[in-house]
Amino acid sequence: LAAVLLIGSLTACGQEARGGSRYVPEKGKGGTIGLAMPTKSSERWIADGKNMAEQFHKAGYKTDLQYGDDKVENQVAQIENMITKGHRLLVVAAINGSALTDVLQRAHDAGIPVISYDRLILGTPYVDYYASFDNEKVGRLQGQYILDRLKLKKPDKGAEKHYNIELFAGSPNDNNTKYFWGGAMKVLDPYFKSGQLVVRSKQTEMNQATTQDWNGGIAQKRMDDLISKSYGDEKVDAVLSPYDGMSLGIISALKSAGYDAKDLPVVTGQDAELASVKSIARGEQTQTVFKDTRKLAKQAVQMGDAVLTGKKPEVNNVTDYDNGKRVVPAYLLNPVSVDKSNTQLLVDEGYFTAGQLK
Ligand code: BGC
Repeated sequence: LAAVLLIGSLTACGQEARGGSRYVPEKGKGGTIGLAMPTKSSERWIADGKNMAEQFHKAGYKTDLQYGDDKVENQVAQIENMITKGHRLLVVAAINGSALTDVLQRAHDAGIPVISYDRLILGTPYVDYYASFDNEKVGRLQGQYILDRLKLKKPDKGAEKHYNIELFAGSPNDNNTKYFWGGAMKVLDPYFKSGQLVVRSKQTEMNQATTQDWNGGIAQKRMDDLISKSYGDEKVDAVLSPYDGMSLGIISALKSAGYDAKDLPVVTGQDAELASVKSIARGEQTQTVFKDTRKLAKQAVQMGDAVLTGKKPEVNNVTDYDNGKRVVPAYLLNPVSVDKSNTQLLVDEGYFTAGQLK
């Protein structure tokens, strides 16, 4: 009888199969959501955390928001803590996409579902869903912007004029890095082949161009070196930069080397961070890619709420995001290129107030 009662009460708690002995808590609203974000050093992640917390509260949950200060061990410890506290769901923007295998095994054993936020978590089957932007498109927008500004309309092997470009990639431990790079290369590659775009430093491989932790200081230092080693009499015409914080570092290096607002190269970016949008208004940084983090937060909250209440989350991509252990069903949002000509969009959409951009 005791055994029957025990089985009965476990079933009531929802002991079901998803990989054997996994404990699955009861469905429904309430409880705490663990939000593990990478760093406060960039505005976007502060906004992501704040937006998700607000929206989860509105949907009837409590939240535990933690920032890992770009240190993998901090993030692992924070997630372990969330599991110990019995949080019902984890939303994780990984610092290192490959470093969460063990801790997510633990989450799985405790029956805690996981949403990979913005950056795909790799090497574990225990990622339930992925909410992000179309990362490859971000890279294509940056590459295409450079072509448009240099008025390169089609590859022409006989063209007399060439432009000098230098290439930067994001952090080597972030899965998004290769998507941004891949998207940009898809667009730029025909012009490397035709000789219309020239990388004077010859640093054309992604692993020569990565920037640890997307750090603006590191990007600045690399740009200093590129200018001093490869640009005697020649000028840099364009810099592919994948992130606003790096773009500003790159622009500082260019300014110290004597470039001014009139002859700064085309410099791309990403995130529409306030300092960069202001730089665009001043005519320094040229472009950024706007990814509305409010929409991403909303998507993750809808996914999380659906998972916890036993509904099927909405997804729009079930083929592209293979993390090595499974193809993670994803919802991808649309990134938008922004330059001086359409910064007003950020005000119209309520991302910034007109006053902030002054
Ligand atoms: C995000 C970008 C961001 C970068 C640096 C990437 O994973 O997708 O939006 O610029 O991290 O924080």
